[in-house]
Amino acid sequence: MSGIVMPLNTRLEIKKQWVCDVCNGIIRSDKDGMLEWDKVYKSSTQNNFRIVHGRWTKQCLENRSKDNLADGHLHWYTGPDGLNKLLGKLLEHGVGKYSLVKIIRRLHVDLYEEALMVLPFAIEDGYEVDEDGYIPNGDLDWLIRKYGKNIK
Ligand SMILES: [Zn+2]
Repeated sequence: MSGIVMPLNTRLEIKKQWVCDVCNGIIRSDKDGMLEWDKVYKSSTQNNFRIVHGRWTKQCLENRSKDNLADGHLHWYTGPDGLNKLLGKLLEHGVGKYSLVKIIRRLHVDLYEEALMVLPFAIEDGYEVDEDGYIPNGDLDWLIRKYGKNIK
């Protein structure tokens, strides 16, 4: 057995680039994106967290209600301090935990965002993801190797 492992080709720079939840385009750095969510004061809920282009980089946010919109620069939520902030947010009352945990994984788990790009192909083949969105580390690598070529 040879110990040679083929390098993993990714479309995104790991934990430096993301796919925009509005236009599906690539957000080239954490300085080009925003974290947004719906904050409803009446019910004191925060949910539907999403990663989007900043208005200054791409106009993909038109025709959208700004009611209840809360946001912060994406770079506030990256790196160790960003993780620390998001974990605190997870403890806030009324926060949509599934939605926010998915964001934490996308921003802080190596290869998670890249694997999400190929996941629909894998699911078509019968691959199953835990209800909470957990994907084992070995699967992240495997999914990208197996299905990465499906992405143009
Ligand atoms: Zn966009």
